[in-house]
Amino acid sequence: MDLDQPSSTRSGLNNNDDEHREAAGGGERSAQRERYSRQMLFPPIGISGQQKIAVATIVVVGMGALGTVIANHMARAGVGKLRIIDRDYVERSNLQRQMLYDEEDVQQVRPKVIAAERKLSRINSDITIEPIVSHVTADNAEALITGADLVLDGTDNFQTRLLLNDVCFKLGIPFIYGGAVSSHGMTAVFIPGQTSCLRCLLGSGDSGSGGDTCDTVGVISPIIDIIASLQAVEALKIMVGATGAQRQGLLSLEIWQHQMMDLKLPPQRTSCPTCSLKQYPSLQASGSEHQRPVTLCGRETVQIGGNRSINLQHMAERLERSCTVTRNPYLLKAELPEGERLVLFPDGRVLVQGTEDLARAQTLYDRYIGS
Ligand SMILES: [Zn+2]
Repeated sequence: MDLDQPSSTRSGLNNNDDEHREAAGGGERSAQRERYSRQMLFPPIGISGQQKIAVATIVVVGMGALGTVIANHMARAGVGKLRIIDRDYVERSNLQRQMLYDEEDVQQVRPKVIAAERKLSRINSDITIEPIVSHVTADNAEALITGADLVLDGTDNFQTRLLLNDVCFKLGIPFIYGGAVSSHGMTAVFIPGQTSCLRCLLGSGDSGSGGDTCDTVGVISPIIDIIASLQAVEALKIMVGATGAQRQGLLSLEIWQHQMMDLKLPPQRTSCPTCSLKQYPSLQASGSEHQRPVTLCGRETVQIGGNRSINLQHMAERLERSCTVTRNPYLLKAELPEGERLVLFPDGRVLVQGTEDLARAQTLYDRYIGS
């Protein structure tokens, strides 16, 4: 988008007449000016900032509560390219706080990124939205994030965050961390070459894997909006190059008792395998490690597989003989006679819902999917 120069028409008028084309280009230009007028009136952004936003590529990993709020802000702000990544589909328990989804998305069993793309493209049809239904692993993380100007954390676990932290520091991409649970949340900006990293913050020996999650202690939606909005404003600053305004430190908020702490980020640890030694341990995990069944914390769900693709049509025909099957282009859901549910994705991932027992999940996987 060029707000000063005449832009080529994308009006779809299919008109060769120069006068009409110029008029259409002018119309588009004024529509763009109108859309972003209030944002451009804000002096630190202005027209030049808007032009920088329009050519930025932003990756949001996780399209749950944080991710939907972040993506909403980014789409409305006019980021040129918005890549959204999530492995899950919309469930009724998401609607209380995951702002882009509605009851129809639940009924249609839509993957979150597909439901989000539908909403976001209605909000802003001028930007490019790239929805990716995938679980981010050591094997695909670099490919998913390459080309990004910055990465925003909408995930719900430190294993994935540390992986994103490793990729971002390896590729030199700013990483904006955010997390919220119950009525408290935290956020920090990590910039390779300028700040320490998330691994430095968590300290040695602490993978950050323990602790409460939204699925075990709950969460109220205002804390998510606040944290996600704080992530979004730092993203705007990075996009327009407002380095002097960049927030330093780790901000911690508790909104029920109203407590706020702004802590300094720790200095870069000389032994940090990410930002000092550049070993990126989360990227070293072998592919086979990721095929192991893993319990998705607090969700009565085990995730298996991902090493070979699944033909949803073939599997639907097979499973329909014994199960109740729901299918859309992105996934297949089967209610098993045993009581559990299987959710199959074309990339080979299978969620076994209704159990946290890894052996039980593997048994059901072998019984219905086969090895
Ligand atoms: Zn570090």
